[in-house]
Amino acid sequence: MTVEEGAHKDNVLDFALQQLDETAEIIGLHPDVHAKLRKPKRALTVSIPTRMDDGHLEVFTGYRVQHNMDRGPCKGGIRYHPSVDMDEVTALAMWMTWKCAVVNIPYGGAKGGVICDPTNMSDGEIEKLTRRFVSELVTIIGPDQDIPAPDVNTNERIMGWLMDTYSMQKGYSVPAVVTGKPIAIGGSLGRAKATGRGIVFVAREALRVSGIPVEGARVVVQGFGNVGGAFAELIEEMGATVIAISDVSGGLYNENGLPIGELIAYAKKNRVIEGFDGGDVISNDELLALECDVLVPAALENVITAENADTVQAKLVVEGANGPTTPDGHHILISRGIYVVPDILANAGGVTVSYFEWCQGIQKLFWQEDEVNRRLEDIMVRAFHDVHSRSEVLGADMRAAAMALAVERVAEAIMARGIYP
Ligand code: GLU
Repeated sequence: MTVEEGAHKDNVLDFALQQLDETAEIIGLHPDVHAKLRKPKRALTVSIPTRMDDGHLEVFTGYRVQHNMDRGPCKGGIRYHPSVDMDEVTALAMWMTWKCAVVNIPYGGAKGGVICDPTNMSDGEIEKLTRRFVSELVTIIGPDQDIPAPDVNTNERIMGWLMDTYSMQKGYSVPAVVTGKPIAIGGSLGRAKATGRGIVFVAREALRVSGIPVEGARVVVQGFGNVGGAFAELIEEMGATVIAISDVSGGLYNENGLPIGELIAYAKKNRVIEGFDGGDVISNDELLALECDVLVPAALENVITAENADTVQAKLVVEGANGPTTPDGHHILISRGIYVVPDILANAGGVTVSYFEWCQGIQKLFWQEDEVNRRLEDIMVRAFHDVHSRSEVLGADMRAAAMALAVERVAEAIMARGIYP
């Protein structure tokens, strides 16, 4: 994935806590459970001394936060980004708990991050950083306790180094310690595009309940990394028209539709979409304010805020990124009648296929890609309709409904287990 533009990440943990507090109020959450869920189960900060190519030693800081494991082992990605901090990783870990509960897979939530700028590091430096970071985490991760995966600026190659480092320390191969790894070492077919594919399934259902045909729907995507790129490609295949897209270098707009396949090939070669001849250059603010049927923010946190939510002209916002809309921004979108499919539902396809990868690894029995995609579709469509019906019963928006469903499922597990000792 690439570093995307447009993010200001102030207060993400405050936002995550505000969402939990609002949900507690709506569902009448038991105060003990509420107090437990406001804090992560375990949070680790590590130093990662790394010998850089010029010979000097750089000491990076990394984090792994395990928010909750009442429903099963912790699950969540690792991101490499200059703006990572403990609060952000904690918020992202909490969102993973809700996400796994919304799609009803047997995991709790975790997240990891390293403060670094991988766009300015060599492959060798990234490998050394990764291996030392994994060595520092070795006592708290594992197939039965915490299973990392890719996130912003990390990819299957890095997951391969993670699997190898962990396995070297154990003395035998442990493929199920990580997901999103290369197929050659136990990765799952369909994992690479799973998040984008999952967004397509929920966007299709959301269009359906809104009475808008997918064929010819006008779609805007912010972010052209693993998530935004795969989503754009697959929604185009379904007959929608992607009229604008952006990455860290800026945005491109073409009212007749951008050729996504050509753009992907261009971005692969040039690393960015800047310079592609096939659309007008637009800013990130202009992109978010385009009139369209579906807007998919698929980059980083806090891009739709109280400052710009009233400029959004989309009928539907389907959140590909984690936390792209602040609580104030969200309330403005809802008050303006915009249908919002929240991150914890919309982008859950990635962790869902991670779950399939973990199951396949443990069983040592691998599935065909069409089986992976079919099971993903089943889970995403069911989760969408679970949340949609809950929103009708509660008379609430889709985020409130998804949060209610998720927190109730986690609360039920906490109550069933009781508090130790
Ligand atoms: N990083 C992805 C997410 O935020 C995937 C996590 C996983 O597969 O464990 O959902």
